Amino acid sequence: MTASLCEYKFINGGTCGKTFKEKVYGTSTYCILHVELPDRSDPKYNDIIYEKIAKVQEKAQKGNFNFEGAKVFEVNFSGKDDIKDLNFTNATIQGGARFDGATIQGSALFDGAKIQKIQGFIEIAWVFNRIIIPRVGEKPGDASFYGATIQGNALFEGATIQGFALFDGAKIQGNALFDGAEIQRDVCFDGAKIQREAWFNGAKILGEIFQCQSTEINGTFLFKDAKFKNMKAQEEACRKAKQTLEHLGRRDEADYHFYREMEAMRKQKKPDISFREAVRRWWRAKDGDSKGEDAGDNSGVSDSSAVKKYVLRYAEYLAEAPIQYVIGYWVKPLRVLEAFALFVVIFGALFWLTDAVQFTFETFLSNLWRISFLWLRDPATLFWRTIFWLTSGQLTADAFLCNLGLFWSNLGSSFLALFDPISSIREAQTQTNTLRGRLTLIAGFIGIFTWPVFIASLAKKYGR
Ligand SMILES: [Zn+2]
Repeated sequence: MTASLCEYKFINGGTCGKTFKEKVYGTSTYCILHVELPDRSDPKYNDIIYEKIAKVQEKAQKGNFNFEGAKVFEVNFSGKDDIKDLNFTNATIQGGARFDGATIQGSALFDGAKIQKIQGFIEIAWVFNRIIIPRVGEKPGDASFYGATIQGNALFEGATIQGFALFDGAKIQGNALFDGAEIQRDVCFDGAKIQREAWFNGAKILGEIFQCQSTEINGTFLFKDAKFKNMKAQEEACRKAKQTLEHLGRRDEADYHFYREMEAMRKQKKPDISFREAVRRWWRAKDGDSKGEDAGDNSGVSDSSAVKKYVLRYAEYLAEAPIQYVIGYWVKPLRVLEAFALFVVIFGALFWLTDAVQFTFETFLSNLWRISFLWLRDPATLFWRTIFWLTSGQLTADAFLCNLGLFWSNLGSSFLALFDPISSIREAQTQTNTLRGRLTLIAGFIGIFTWPVFIASLAKKYGR
């Protein structure tokens, strides 16, 4: 009886068995390459891994680098300069993929691939007097292409790289596409040359660093909706993207990356220690002082101004928030208008509240407190109670409509206060002692700032 052929289905519809005549491994329906990687506790672990390694070498020697969907153990073809097409689409590579200095004459396809690290990997570290001393180590799960040449595209869309993505000095003559990929450590493209596009749209970059300052990219460099765990990495990547896009005259995309660069810079101002830690350092420094020690020498662990620094940095971080969310760093005119609409509604509601019931400032605050407290506790039933309360406890159709009308007219007056701030401020000066007058003043001042910001944003966006 002849063994049956591997049933693994390739993306183009063919099967591994029909294309490569690969026979199944053992009782599986897949060949040795497509059979799952065994668990370490599996008694056949060593056999299967050994056969997988041998099969990869055998295929490579025949010049066949099509490993679509294969599940393999650590591939290393560093320095190999006659790889025609490299295909690891949807493959799983345990322990990393190394192609340092290799030349790939076609494309390097890693779409949907998983490059995984292995923890607790045991290797023979030392053989001494026939005694083997094993060492427990880690195989990093990097995608390593130091100085490699890829004459086609480098495609890593939807791939997961548990280690580093190392492309320093690599030459990619097509596109480098990492859309939707997840890279769990640093990304390095120092001195790399990418002839066409480099895209990381929707990618997740969890490492500390994104090195790309000395990268040459001739096409676009995009990070639309990419998520960065580290803000320094986001700043570096988005700055480079902005510069590349500005050079190409792609303003909208350049603005998007400028916004994300600024966002990253703001978020880095948030103190990286907790308030408790700041107090602890300050306390320790104080303690040290009283004992006559040099507090400044403890490499930042004790710091007499820790609390002050913490508060200042946090204040800066918060103070810049409106510049991001309201003003949109002057590149989002629509954002300014949205904020304006929101202000109209907020001030409309405030004017309404101050009109609907004859409040003093104190009752206004206590009612506001009561209502938000009740809302937090039981929002569903309290929706109607709030309506009752706002209609002075008597929900008649007349009272409701009257207050509704008042709300609309107050929306109108808050719009006016924001739209024509100077005259509304002048008017409010006659009634500054009332709550209404104070509110008008605040609305007026916001209005004064809104319009120049809107016009500046428009000018920045369309005036170049
Ligand atoms: Zn197969």
